[in-house]
Amino acid sequence: MQSSRNRPLPGRSSTPDRRSRPRLEGLEERMLLYSTLGGDWVYGSRITYSFVPDGTSIGGVPSSLFQSLNARMPTATWQREINAAAAVWQAVANVNLVQVSDNGTGIGAPGNQQGDSRFGDIRISAIPLSFGTLGAAYSPPQINGGTLAGDIVFNSTTSWMVDAHYDLMTVAIHEFGHALGMGHSDIGRAVMYSYYTTVKQTLHTDDVDGIRSVYGSRQPDYWNSNGRSNSMYWQAVSLDGSQNAANQITVANLNLTSPGQTEWFWVVVPPTNTGSVTVAVQSTNLSMLTPRVTVFDASLNSRGDAFGSSNSTTAQLTVPGVTAGQGFLVRATAWTGGSTGAFAFQVNFGTTPLTPVAPPFTTVASQTGTGGGLNTMTDGHAEGEEHEHEHEHGLGTVKIGHLSGLGDSLHEPGVAPISPTAAGLLAAGANSRPPGKVEFRLVTAAAADASALGGLSGFTHAVSPAWGFGPMDDASPAWEFQGGFAGFSTVRRRSPAR
Ligand SMILES: [Zn+2]
Repeated sequence: MQSSRNRPLPGRSSTPDRRSRPRLEGLEERMLLYSTLGGDWVYGSRITYSFVPDGTSIGGVPSSLFQSLNARMPTATWQREINAAAAVWQAVANVNLVQVSDNGTGIGAPGNQQGDSRFGDIRISAIPLSFGTLGAAYSPPQINGGTLAGDIVFNSTTSWMVDAHYDLMTVAIHEFGHALGMGHSDIGRAVMYSYYTTVKQTLHTDDVDGIRSVYGSRQPDYWNSNGRSNSMYWQAVSLDGSQNAANQITVANLNLTSPGQTEWFWVVVPPTNTGSVTVAVQSTNLSMLTPRVTVFDASLNSRGDAFGSSNSTTAQLTVPGVTAGQGFLVRATAWTGGSTGAFAFQVNFGTTPLTPVAPPFTTVASQTGTGGGLNTMTDGHAEGEEHEHEHEHGLGTVKIGHLSGLGDSLHEPGVAPISPTAAGLLAAGANSRPPGKVEFRLVTAAAADASALGGLSGFTHAVSPAWGFGPMDDASPAWEFQGGFAGFSTVRRRSPAR
């Protein structure tokens, strides 16, 4: 990444009278993109999350997750949005996420740091947070120790929406990012940008780079590594004769690492044929994969197709009327919604129902947080007013009731919409000075007219690719615009979110 310090403003060089043009002065600049918090989960192979039942204590404040979100949309809808947010991270990094049940034990109670059987590693709740705060997340181990690590709190008073402001999935992705170890990004289009700017339901490459710096990329399974592949039907892994005494076959530790990937298996009906064969692709309890299974005969005629109803389900189908010695090709892949993840493949020629594959071991006993863990700092933004100090990439204290830990929260932009022209100008400033805490003065020798501003908006587009910025409409809300363009104006970036 090159410095922007001496970058000329395109659109100005060919302009004879510079003093008649608006000029941006960067008073301070810093060049940072994604950031990470310095913590992670010991077992990325299975990180669980749970929806806490209403009334669950968060430092003495009862959660109203179900009541507040059910008032906006059906339970299945908001849970689907949050599940999708988890799947977004799983898709690009070497982690699997799974929703588990939650027994309502108070948030932060003593227990395992990971793999506590009573609730998820990441517990999701909602309470009334301070105005302008959409959600907060406690940082993962080892920054916070104990069960509090990674827990997410949504603002129960926010007008949550699907695909509109404030988009629940957008905020859920951001908070999951913190819970997994991501800090803030300086890129306005990144989901880890410190302010809510627009609906963002996919990761920016900067977010992908960030999460991979913590957990690495998804790793292919045994059948798709070291030169092996079963991604085409003629590469099907033969399971002929590998059934156990119950006439069942289990292949565990499988993994779809990219959207559209397929895995093929070849099964042959044994002499003990009971008249049918059942096949199952299981992500239940294993990952956010939405599984799909398809059976073909040896001539590639489809004999059945099934898919899971949502993330973390099992796609299963039974082919009747089979005969001993008959062979079938079975294709395992993803249905829409959860395109990658860990899974298991099972075949049943017998009469005993299949036993689902158990999840991997992920138990980690409670440990002391390295980042101070629970503490009694009281400047938490979750309960306080706006603070002037900045924690652009660092951690603030999230304090709820008597519960306090290191974490971060996502804020509304808190500014009125500005004109597209102004947005373009502000965005130009954002591009020319990778933002940290940045302040710009817009100097207009002659009143900034439309043509002058137009020259700057060209600059925006000229450097967009270099800086990874797209259209600037989603960067502008993080800026305060003071005054008007018709005269001396000041543009100041809002103090970054904590
Ligand atoms: Zn944040």
